[in-house]
Amino acid sequence: MEHDELWEKSLGIIELSISKANFNTWFKGTHISAIKDHHVVIGVPNGFAKEWLENKYQTYILNALREHDENIKSISCTVCAQQQPTEDLVAQKPSEETSTPPSPTATSPATATNLNNRYTFDSFVVGEKNELAKAACVAVSENLGKIYNPLFIYGHVGLGKTHLLQSIGNATLQQDPTRRVLYTTSERFTSELIAAIKNHTIAQFKEEYQKIDLLIIDDVQFLSGKEKTQEEFFHIFNALYQQDKQIVISSDRPPKAISTLQDRLRSRFEGGMIVDIGSPDLETRIAILKEKAQQKDFYISDDTLHFIAENIKNNVRELEGALNRIIALCDLQKKEPTLSFVKDALAELIESSQRRGVQANDILNVVIDFYETSREELLGKARKKEIVRPRQVAMFFLRSELSMSYPGIGKYFGGRDHTTALHAYEKIMNLKKTDEKFSEELQFLLDKIYTV
Ligand code: ADP
Ligand code: MG
Repeated sequence: MEHDELWEKSLGIIELSISKANFNTWFKGTHISAIKDHHVVIGVPNGFAKEWLENKYQTYILNALREHDENIKSISCTVCAQQQPTEDLVAQKPSEETSTPPSPTATSPATATNLNNRYTFDSFVVGEKNELAKAACVAVSENLGKIYNPLFIYGHVGLGKTHLLQSIGNATLQQDPTRRVLYTTSERFTSELIAAIKNHTIAQFKEEYQKIDLLIIDDVQFLSGKEKTQEEFFHIFNALYQQDKQIVISSDRPPKAISTLQDRLRSRFEGGMIVDIGSPDLETRIAILKEKAQQKDFYISDDTLHFIAENIKNNVRELEGALNRIIALCDLQKKEPTLSFVKDALAELIESSQRRGVQANDILNVVIDFYETSREELLGKARKKEIVRPRQVAMFFLRSELSMSYPGIGKYFGGRDHTTALHAYEKIMNLKKTDEKFSEELQFLLDKIYTV
């Protein structure tokens, strides 16, 4: 079989097993560049795709290839300039500029970018849960409009979305100060739009937006339900997208879970690259604290940092707040940040932070409320259909959010066997993958759990 044919057929299989967004993002522009000694080398457009395909999709690719040639033993990826020629990037810039007729405002001083230069990639500490988000942002800033468009980053509050989005803007301007960059939040976008409508300057409003090379919209979940705003945003989005201008978006949840987002906007979001950013693990929290302390020239011992990181887990913003409090108190009281000083200083903060940390009871309450059942029924033995599903959902969340052990969950539910908990977890996990409506329901519950 020819290489091209083999790859076409394999892509057909891969396409069926992963999401459309991921397929388009990672497999567009790939080909088989060589096969030697049953080892397949896949040509990919950039280093980021190489890393991702090799780490995440290795098994998918191998299985798909083996469907057609069972002798294939292994794969690797190589970056082929062919798909993204550098000459192209260089050649495109001037032509891009000449193709946009200089407008009267083009020579006026750059309009506000809303960027804060304190947010840079360098000051962003990388750990397992945010590595990919950062890599995607860096890749985008180096290839505006060329690889992942739009880039959609989502994650809970305080995990560094704004930091990353702003860093893309700053890095872009650093590479090329003539680029037009705008950072805005969906709320600011909405209020400017409303003002433009009121002042009859809507045409101008749109025109200004369409001149932008990099449009960053933070917290897009707030567009939810605002029909008119979404409509205008969609037009601006399309105009920019068609000119290969870069759009970067953040949200506290994936596009699928933004319930009242217009379908066409949602599918536009899903057509690009979607990455999530998760809560940092202990090591990353320590590294973040170190970085922040260093930025402020503040000396603090490792075991004290360790103590703070162990006790403040919810998000990075709180972590930073704790450190700032210590710095301020030390300064004020002319004290050193010893472990006992820090324990005292943070006692209240830690207590409230932990209180806000979700507990089994919170999960149960949300489930009981949503499915209109009772605690007795949920924890009881009845096997009615109406109660089995909520029970499985509760078990699922105890596992996914609190990492409770299966025997622990079984015990919590009136001394059930651990296999019941395991089965519940797997059942819900499967449904989540295959049933979009149910998956939205879970997301809704999750939001509730974290906002109690
Ligand atoms: P979000 O927009 O997701 O709510 P932010 O980007 O505002 O979160 O982050 C909150 C604070 O935490 C900011 O001051 C940011 O600089 C800091 N922060 C978050 N993640 C990191 C990280 N990985 N490294 C360094 N600082 C971080
Ligand atoms: Mg933010």
